[in-house]
Amino acid sequence: MARMINCECGRTIRGETDEEVVANAEAHVRQDHPELVGSITRDDLLAMAEEA
Ligand SMILES: [Zn+2]
Repeated sequence: MARMINCECGRTIRGETDEEVVANAEAHVRQDHPELVGSITRDDLLAMAEEA
């Protein structure tokens, strides 16, 4: 089941699995929201994930 996360910045992060969408979201946070690294957890990202 494909998953997606709508970031607060308007970017949509996609992945084929929970693992993939979380990994992609972590990479996006590191690149575009470095101030949030450490304050957004894996569980937060999973909670934001929706079925695509
Ligand atoms: Zn973002």
